[in-house]
Amino acid sequence: MGRVEGKVALVTGGSSGIGKGCAETLAREGATVVITDIQDDKGPAVVAGITAAGGKAEYLHHDVTSEDEWIAVVAEIDRRHGRLDILVNNAGIGVGSPSITTMTLADWRRQQAINVEGVFLGIKHGLLLMRKAGNGGSIINMSSVAGLKGSPTLAAYSATKGAVRLLTKAVALECAQVKDGVRVNSVHPGIIETPIWEGIMPSAPGSNTPPDLDAISTMAVPIGVKGLPADIANGVLWLASEESRYVTGAELVIDGGLSVR
Ligand code: NAP
Repeated sequence: MGRVEGKVALVTGGSSGIGKGCAETLAREGATVVITDIQDDKGPAVVAGITAAGGKAEYLHHDVTSEDEWIAVVAEIDRRHGRLDILVNNAGIGVGSPSITTMTLADWRRQQAINVEGVFLGIKHGLLLMRKAGNGGSIINMSSVAGLKGSPTLAAYSATKGAVRLLTKAVALECAQVKDGVRVNSVHPGIIETPIWEGIMPSAPGSNTPPDLDAISTMAVPIGVKGLPADIANGVLWLASEESRYVTGAELVIDGGLSVR
């Protein structure tokens, strides 16, 4: 038996990076994984990889900022599977800015729309199906170490990830109060090797080349190395499984010690 055998999972932003890692790990442990993203060119390849390894996965186009698309995706999961057990609100972007005075309102709003409103809409519509199915569930919201500590170049991103942290706790308490069996937790990755770093901290202004994460990790991370998507996926797997049945409203920090320095 896999650790999430027979469960139905939705992973947003699952075409790339941490979301891809979560989808692969949950499928390996027996879940049927619905992967959604705006990167429609990459999502089907993730599904093909999972299927080739003997897992079950499907891909749907889904912009997490659109309430209409949330309604359609959740309705499609209800139609195909009649339940939703695991929701990983993972899709997110980061836009770094040397100063808050040069951060554009458009970049501020884009990060709020994807990182905060996308998580709000996911919780709202995912919870409706979890409650309708009546099997309880696990909602896992991807925050960041940037949601725990400030960073001079990441003010807007930090604001979104701090919002996700407390949104998680508030909804965890609502679910506990109504006894719907749904647990809600946040995950706080540190420096993880994915394409997101191209937007957060390009190696040079205007460049698409990500920074040297090995060099940054040697300096900043107590254990001295960067993390990989599988490191986060293993934590998500635990929160998704019954092994964490007594855990709700919690923050799972996976950062090689970055945030305790
Ligand atoms: P990633 O590789 O860029 O993956 C994020 C995925 O979400 C991409 O496929 C992205 O597409 C997609 N996406 C962007 N906007 C979307 C939207 N409106 N609707 C649906 N999908 C959308 O980045 P990642 O590092 O895996 O990030 C995953 C999560 O982890 C994010 O919430 C991020 O903030 C968080 N996180 C990452 C790190 C890290 O070090 N990597 C650290 C802390 C937290 P595009 O490429 O087209 O934008």
